[in-house]
Amino acid sequence: MSDYMFMLESHLSTEQFRVVGEMQKIAAAAGVNLFLTGGAMRDMLGGFPVRDLDFTVETNPLKLGKALEKAGATAVSTDDLRKAVELRFPGGVTAELAMARQERYPKPGGRPQVTPAAIHEDLRSRDFTVNAIALSLNRASLGLPIDPTNGVGDIERKELRAIHNYSFYDDPSRMLRLIRFKIRLGYAIDERTKLQYENAREAEMLTKISPEALGAELRHIAAEPLVADVLKALEEEKLIGLYSPALEGPKLNLGGFQKLQKARQTAPSDYRVHAMPLFLTILFEKLNAKEKSALIKAAELSRQEINATQKMEAAAKKLERDLKSAKLQKPSQLYQILIKAPGELVLCLMVYSDQRLVQDRIKNYFGKYLPASLEITDEMVAASGVAPGTPKFAGAKEKMILARLDARPKKPAPEPEPPPPPPMSSFARGPGPRAPR
Ligand code: ATP
Ligand code: MG
Repeated sequence: MSDYMFMLESHLSTEQFRVVGEMQKIAAAAGVNLFLTGGAMRDMLGGFPVRDLDFTVETNPLKLGKALEKAGATAVSTDDLRKAVELRFPGGVTAELAMARQERYPKPGGRPQVTPAAIHEDLRSRDFTVNAIALSLNRASLGLPIDPTNGVGDIERKELRAIHNYSFYDDPSRMLRLIRFKIRLGYAIDERTKLQYENAREAEMLTKISPEALGAELRHIAAEPLVADVLKALEEEKLIGLYSPALEGPKLNLGGFQKLQKARQTAPSDYRVHAMPLFLTILFEKLNAKEKSALIKAAELSRQEINATQKMEAAAKKLERDLKSAKLQKPSQLYQILIKAPGELVLCLMVYSDQRLVQDRIKNYFGKYLPASLEITDEMVAASGVAPGTPKFAGAKEKMILARLDARPKKPAPEPEPPPPPPMSSFARGPGPRAPR
């Protein structure tokens, strides 16, 4: 086995590695070349957790639709221009499957002309060297790295380097990506790339970013673990005004985003969250109606995204009521509520709820009950006599988890803490009666 295949197996989650295997089978059956690329390679080599898998195939991936469906994948969205499809696999694994392509930009900031290409050309038309590494998943060259721009060297140096001199002219949204990756990875920006960035700014290339590209970047920002740090860096770089001039001042809700960043650090790194509604709730908090609608237009946010944002508050309030119920006596009851709750609602309460009991209960869930539930393995369930894969299995596992949670020794109640600071938002106002512990 090549070093890289070994690294893949040890770095990816079991579920992700299974998806890599599925994809290999699908590509082999279709007789097309498949590579692991982009962020997945960068993060694996840089020692970061791999959030989603980026695959590139030397064909139009939409042709693989049937086989993907059979493997249990659902298409979340498709990009017809770039011939890319975003997929969700069972077990919560997310992946992008894109056609190996070359992009040419006849007009700065305009839509690229996309043509099918071999993997080498595809890698050379990407943004930064650290994002332009591929790993062959094909039988004849399995585990062979392809790194035409020496991205591995830049990962070792911890440097972000643009691949082309005119990279920021071709696609000015890469300027936003540059700052986001700088914060996310903690890498420095190579000197020459810095100059290219400054030149492109001077040439007013920022004005050429399309609303579609601004929206796509906002979705990436929303999903960043260090969301507050990224927004702060965009403010310092005077880039945040691209979304709304109102965000250039105190209306950028950094306090709210810091709470969100902290909440994300409390939750496990693979905690599933639908990021946009909560992100927009925090972003919109200090804006008036006019500023909000200008931002929605500037980033071409969808009706669906706005609706989900508007529904978020009521749903979070309901969860808050359930969580402060005096009927919640046992850890197993709390676990059952929170394991089912959408991640964004749980994080929303961590940001906004002024109920101490609710905050403590969520903290207990992440700090104690969720880790304890993971101690029950499939092998333990199988050893109790229930065959894996049978309909009874999931139920038997849940039963064992609940029993384990309630069997844990009770800790003495913590010392009462001083009252919380005044609520930050209208959402937090109107504390209900304090439920008993
Ligand atoms: P993340 O972990 O946020 O998904 P990522 O690097 O995978 O990071 P994506 O936006 O998913 O980022 O894109 C996948 C890959 O596609 C990138 O690694 C990069 O190689 C390429 N790419 C994405 N956007 C651009 C762009 N605007 N210009 C050039 N290449 C891009
Ligand atoms: Mg990605």
